[in-house]
Amino acid sequence: MNKEKSNEILALLRDIIKNPKPELDFKNNYELIVAVILSAQTTDKKVNIVTKELFLKYPDYKELMNADIDDVINIIKPLGLANNKAKSIINMASSVIKDYGGILPNTLEELVKLPGVGRKTASVVLALGFNIPAMPVDTHLHRMAIRFGYIKDGEDVLKAEEAYKKYIPEEEWIDAHHLFLLFGRYHCKAQNPECDGCKLSKYCKI
Ligand code: SF4
Repeated sequence: MNKEKSNEILALLRDIIKNPKPELDFKNNYELIVAVILSAQTTDKKVNIVTKELFLKYPDYKELMNADIDDVINIIKPLGLANNKAKSIINMASSVIKDYGGILPNTLEELVKLPGVGRKTASVVLALGFNIPAMPVDTHLHRMAIRFGYIKDGEDVLKAEEAYKKYIPEEEWIDAHHLFLLFGRYHCKAQNPECDGCKLSKYCKI
């Protein structure tokens, strides 16, 4: 990989992905971090359905902190891993109230200390909630990094994050994150990618 090639890939992705925006619904940082925690191993569409009811009943950190866990589990059940996710969002809300005075912190170091928040979730919150340059690498961005040669097959998500950050200008990280994510989600899928007529085949290692 080099910067020129990376720029060419991004230019083609901008041609294909007309609206590189997040697909999770959220109105504030509270809703964002809850939605991102809930989105593990499920689809954004399912999360959006569930959070409509969840945020009506539990509209802020304080309400969620005091929620009845069985009620939360019941609401988020369609997403899977409901027990763990319910525990995570309630404990996260409790930590934001008790440790940060009810204000979500805006550094990676602090965010990853919150229950249920890993590096990817923290990076999504930085990028979408605070507009702070970050490059969250999920399964799609990891796969894209391998297919386009930002990293070698077998290298991990952290290597992918480092490589994206090395070859993509900082002011483009957030936009690039959406482009790779949506291209991976809808076109260059893990199984049966749409390779016929793919404009990016020249850059692809497959
Ligand atoms: S050629 Fe296929 S695998 Fe390669 S980038 Fe295009 S869709 Fe993905």
